[in-house]
Amino acid sequence: MSNVPLRGLTPPAQAASVLLARARGSREVFVVARALALRFLGGFLAFPGGKVHSSDDELARTTPGLTGSHVAAIRELFEETGVLLAHDAGGAYPTAEKLLPLRRELMTEQITFPALLAEHKLHLRPEDLTYVGSLVTPPFAPLRFDTAFFLAVLPPGQTAEVWPGELTEGAWRSAESVLADWNAGDNLVAPPTVALLQAIGGQPIEELPERLRPLLDKLAAGAIHPIWFSPGVQMIPLFAEGLPPSTHTNAYLVGSDPAYLIDPGASAAEEQSRLFDLLAGRRLRGVVLTHHHSDHIGAVQVCAERYGVPVLAHPRTAQALHGRIAVHQLIHDGDRLDLGTAPDGKGTWHLQAIHTPGHAPGHLCFWEPRYRLLFVGDMISMLSSVLIPPPPEGDLTEYLHSLQRLQSYPARLLLPAHGSPSARPAHVLEQALAHRREREEQLLQALQAGPRTMAELVTELYRGLPAELTRFAEMQIQAGLHKLQREGRAVAVDAHCWRQNAS
Ligand SMILES: [Zn+2]
Repeated sequence: MSNVPLRGLTPPAQAASVLLARARGSREVFVVARALALRFLGGFLAFPGGKVHSSDDELARTTPGLTGSHVAAIRELFEETGVLLAHDAGGAYPTAEKLLPLRRELMTEQITFPALLAEHKLHLRPEDLTYVGSLVTPPFAPLRFDTAFFLAVLPPGQTAEVWPGELTEGAWRSAESVLADWNAGDNLVAPPTVALLQAIGGQPIEELPERLRPLLDKLAAGAIHPIWFSPGVQMIPLFAEGLPPSTHTNAYLVGSDPAYLIDPGASAAEEQSRLFDLLAGRRLRGVVLTHHHSDHIGAVQVCAERYGVPVLAHPRTAQALHGRIAVHQLIHDGDRLDLGTAPDGKGTWHLQAIHTPGHAPGHLCFWEPRYRLLFVGDMISMLSSVLIPPPPEGDLTEYLHSLQRLQSYPARLLLPAHGSPSARPAHVLEQALAHRREREEQLLQALQAGPRTMAELVTELYRGLPAELTRFAEMQIQAGLHKLQREGRAVAVDAHCWRQNAS
């Protein structure tokens, strides 16, 4: 029980990305910063790239060996960095000087990419790109990509430069230096980029295809992706039956060694065994629960027994799980969970518990001050608005208060149990509060027009809602009515009907 759905998972879109080496044999690659407001990985460092367009597929058909992914990789690289892997009639690469006005024309949409190539008699060659492998966004995000990664080398006479827009900057960096900054908490790096930089491992970039092979083989065999949104924090999206659109619950493995496992929700044996494969060779300190809902607890007991570690939760969660799952250690507001030495080896790090009732009575969030991470459980879902049941299970007044408490932490990254982490915690929390204010306003307006039954309120407030979700809409409305009644702004006419309290 977690969310009122707004949108579901869609199949991944085809995309392409380029690891551009500064020169042959170089250890430096061009890394770009994605603008904070971008829906996909906004605020993270990544490699240039983007979606494959239908025009890329069409252009690919004109040259043997070229695919839509090749064309998309070359086009995106040109748009984002000004580097164009194309050849003139004599086989030479165009110079930076020649490319500058062409890029401007393309970016201001005065010309399409195929027309630009045709007009300047430029052609693409598949051998400019070396295919590394493809990575599919794991099923935690509604926006997912099947991205083909390619290696390329900066052509002589060209320069790579980011024009501010969707990207905010770009730089030639070695894999080690980007990862060292990441470990120190000085930047945010997109998880596939982390995996690729780790695979480069201080070697020349040309060696990446063979160095990445073991990971690609493991993924092809069904292993869970290595998803590192922050050093020392591995996100593990596990199939867990929640409310649609949620198909997965993000567990988090936090800490170097041993680590805490937060919310392992998988109840299916097959999914649990993928989790055990991932945990092989890792030591656990304990299994931590944000709250007691079924899509967060499926693998709790089995993990605690298998690894001989305690289950930790808030007393209200322990109470809700009584007779089902034994909680060995209670966590109260303000308690610290020690995480040992920080990932960069400097000092220690820890989680601090924040009791955030509203969605569930014993709900806990966790603040990690070293990297400024906020683990929000089901306080925020990045897929939909969170279900707030009426008391005693939930409480809208408490939920709003809990959201406001979360706003007081200077978080850089918000890590939810459902959906993609966000590099804009303040924005996400403010949006959640604004959404509730808007819903309350709608409820008040409906009651101002006259007494309303629950069925009428559902119809007015949740137009077009699928019938199977009606009971969740009713719970949200019940919670809203309860808050208004408590504040003296609404009264019950009878058990099924409410009106505004004008007095
Ligand atoms: Zn929940």
